[in-house]
Amino acid sequence: MSLIFCPQCGSLLQPVGAGTLKCPKCGYTKNLEKPGGLVITSTKIKHKSSEKILVIEDNKPNTNLPRTRDTRCPKCGYDEAEYWFLQTRRADEPPTRFYKCVKCGHVWREYE
Ligand SMILES: [Zn+2]
Ligand SMILES: [Zn+2]
Repeated sequence: MSLIFCPQCGSLLQPVGAGTLKCPKCGYTKNLEKPGGLVITSTKIKHKSSEKILVIEDNKPNTNLPRTRDTRCPKCGYDEAEYWFLQTRRADEPPTRFYKCVKCGHVWREYE
């Protein structure tokens, strides 16, 4: 690491923290981590994009619902539907099963 001298008074700058040099005489500070600041910014972008991936993963169950052939679409008569459960009434009652027709997208519900 090369020695850096204060441009104001010519004293040898002393490291005072991560990437920061400070002149002990006049208090001039020099930040060596300016390019590193850009790295931090790109890390933030990476973090944001990873958050986006998380959001996509959160949405995944909606497109990968289990399917059943035990039902029939009341709209188009197709016998395969995605299904999921939803607690729509009191907690001591069984959850309502919802179906979504894989052919026409019609959604209906069935009580257990
Ligand atoms: Zn100085
Ligand atoms: Zn249908």
